[in-house]
Parts: sequence; structure tokens; C-alpha cells
Amino acid sequence: MSDRPPLLRDIELAFVRIHILHHAAEHPIYGLWMRDELAEHGYDISVGTLYPILHQLEDDGYLVSREQLGGGRRRRYYEATDAGQRLLGRIQVRLRELTTETLPQPSGDGA
Ligand SMILES: [Zn+2]
Repeated sequence: MSDRPPLLRDIELAFVRIHILHHAAEHPIYGLWMRDELAEHGYDISVGTLYPILHQLEDDGYLVSREQLGGGRRRRYYEATDAGQRLLGRIQVRLRELTTETLPQPSGDGA
């Protein structure tokens, strides 16, 4: 994301954190899986950027990790904590409000 204007990069990094919390609340995730998932959404994020975010979210108490065998190798899996789930709920409220205000509404043709 290094070719992005600084403001867009900041905003995208916040969106990346939301993606991480969302997926880690659904099932345990690991770094490379998360990188590929973000790539599918158009976020070209390096592990050098992603891993510090995961570590920060864990340090802040929103994720918890454990090493586990997966796909024939040991991986560090991250899951949302209760605090992470509550934070995600608060973010969802903000997101709903923001998208309601900022996104064009569907035209009212009854469809
Ligand atoms: Zn996602």
C-alpha cells in the first residue's frame, strides 16, 4: 500500500484492523491466511505490515494467539477475545452509521 496517499493508507490500515477483528471473531486465523483474505479484498499488505498489527491487537487484549499444527506446519493462530468481540460490536455501530451517511442510497424503485 506504499503507493497510496498517506491519508488513504491510514484509513486502509484501520479497515485492515476491522477485517482482522471480524475474521478472528468468526474462526481462528493465521497471518498468511489473513494476508490472502485481504488481498482478495484488494489490500496488498505485506506480512511485515500485517504481523505487527496482529501483535499489537494481541498486546491490546483484543486477540489471543496460540501455536498449533495446521496444514503440516506450526502456525500461530489468532482468535478474538471477549474484549475483541465487544470492540467489533462498537465498530459495527460506527460502520453502520458511517455507511448510512456516506454511501449513496439505493434508488427507491421498490426493488
Ligand atoms: Zn475480510
